[in-house]
Amino acid sequence: MGPRKRDMYRMPWSMNDNPIGWLEVTDKCNIYCRGCYRRNMTGHKPLEQIKEELRFFKEWRNCDNISIAGGEPLIHPDILDILAYIRELGMKPLILTNGVKLVDNKPFLEELKRAGAIGFTFHIDSEQSRPHWKGKSEIELCELRLQYARMVNEVGGLFVSFGATIYPSNLHIVPELVRWANEHIDLVHGLVFITFRGAPQDGLFDYFVDGKPVKVEVSYTTDSTEEIGITSPDVYAEIKKANPNYETAAYLGGSQTHDAIKWLLNVQFGIKGQMLGSIGPKGMELVQTFYHLFRGRYLAYTAMHKLPKIAFLLGLVDRQGIGRAHRNYWKAVLRNPLRLFQPVYTQSIGIIQAPDILEDGRQDMCDSCPDMTVWDGKLVHSCRMDEWRLYGTYVTAQRHADVGGNGGTSTPEAVPTEEAEGDLTPAR
Ligand code: SF4
Repeated sequence: MGPRKRDMYRMPWSMNDNPIGWLEVTDKCNIYCRGCYRRNMTGHKPLEQIKEELRFFKEWRNCDNISIAGGEPLIHPDILDILAYIRELGMKPLILTNGVKLVDNKPFLEELKRAGAIGFTFHIDSEQSRPHWKGKSEIELCELRLQYARMVNEVGGLFVSFGATIYPSNLHIVPELVRWANEHIDLVHGLVFITFRGAPQDGLFDYFVDGKPVKVEVSYTTDSTEEIGITSPDVYAEIKKANPNYETAAYLGGSQTHDAIKWLLNVQFGIKGQMLGSIGPKGMELVQTFYHLFRGRYLAYTAMHKLPKIAFLLGLVDRQGIGRAHRNYWKAVLRNPLRLFQPVYTQSIGIIQAPDILEDGRQDMCDSCPDMTVWDGKLVHSCRMDEWRLYGTYVTAQRHADVGGNGGTSTPEAVPTEEAEGDLTPAR
């Protein structure tokens, strides 16, 4: 059976109270990744503009964490100042990187930590033009992932996770990646799987801006609708094959449909050599509620990787999740008492099913989108920001007349925006 919304906690995040802000510091990159949402149009953002956007997040978003993305953020010349400024504003910077700048460059990693980084999500997958690793399979790339995980753990005190885009062609390797991560739970703090999405260019839909037809020129187009069918529950099922103790605790739904599951969130517990279980919905609710009560905002990421064993007491409330992991822990200790002295680690797995174009052309976005970014004084979905950069608004889709649409023009969909009080320079 797949994940059911009624068995999970719906993350309480919203437009104005969301732990994540998505900051894009550049649209330049040093490699090419298939499925990238960003076209190289404007290069590095000036530091002053970045600071303005960070103040915007602080004012309108109540962020705990700022995900620094791009393009490739580590090639921005002011990356250290950006990290320091995020810290100054009381938020935690997490860097989303392809890692190329960190190859054999531990001193740079140490500098990033000193400047305030709490951790890294490395995007490594087989559809990248990565120097020396081109043509390698997902499994072969685990060697590279391990190099990064080791380097980050040597520096210490940093979160390290790995992201991969999932296509029909690599869905089958998900169990292998999860087994690899579980095996290295002492080094790997998380995995993120993002299902590939693209605007279909196979004639099924026509696209419009302000009611006028346009030829879509964003980077996220695809000629084949067959490529975009993988869902979050599909990825969930693959993960289960690797670890039956894996279970999701929380979700975000779709903005248009009641049954879509866009984000699936999990935190697993394990000792070296054995996975014990996953946090349950009650445990996730406790964490979110108490963090908000005491810190005034919700929690997305933490560099804490070892579970204090006292936290097993939360199993009294979260019986299905932490309680079960606790019971498995004692069973493991009884089999081998030396395990009592081993640390218990946490490892998260996030699954994101990016926007879906529905049959009638509506776009089903992630409800309470955590990855909103700032564009021209507004919060916009980062996965679709290039529509704003190219057309000044979202592009709407309508089913082509020959395949069931009415062939007429459509009105741009309502866009959730917040007007900034500040004067932000458009990222044109
Ligand atoms: S809707 Fe938001 S969270 Fe979902 S893929 Fe797009 S930017 Fe990411």
